[in-house]
Amino acid sequence: MPSGLEFCSKCGSILVPEKKGKSLVLKCRKCKFTRKKDARNIKLLEEKKRRPSVAIIEKDVVPLPITERECEKCGNKKAYYWLQQTRDADEPPTQFFKCTNTKCKHVWREYK
Ligand SMILES: [Zn+2]
Ligand SMILES: [Zn+2]
Repeated sequence: MPSGLEFCSKCGSILVPEKKGKSLVLKCRKCKFTRKKDARNIKLLEEKKRRPSVAIIEKDVVPLPITERECEKCGNKKAYYWLQQTRDADEPPTQFFKCTNTKCKHVWREYK
């Protein structure tokens, strides 16, 4: 059953969304039964959609390996590093560095 589909509680037919003024109602074509679309449900769906971006932020917390590399901003001698494919897959990945100084957090890249 496709998600988001709702059925008439009277006859079991599929309810069709219909605009009624500013709000959206679900209407049964068979018995003319109408129901207001639950605004709270819509909000819950929207919050679920937002979750993936939160997961990406959490990924950033994962500790990265540290290498000896001088930060050009604060002079700190250590930096986190990782590789990232930024362009076409046939090109070499870009090496990224992030200053370990929590007050600086300067990020730079180096092409191999
Ligand atoms: Zn009905
Ligand atoms: Zn720095």
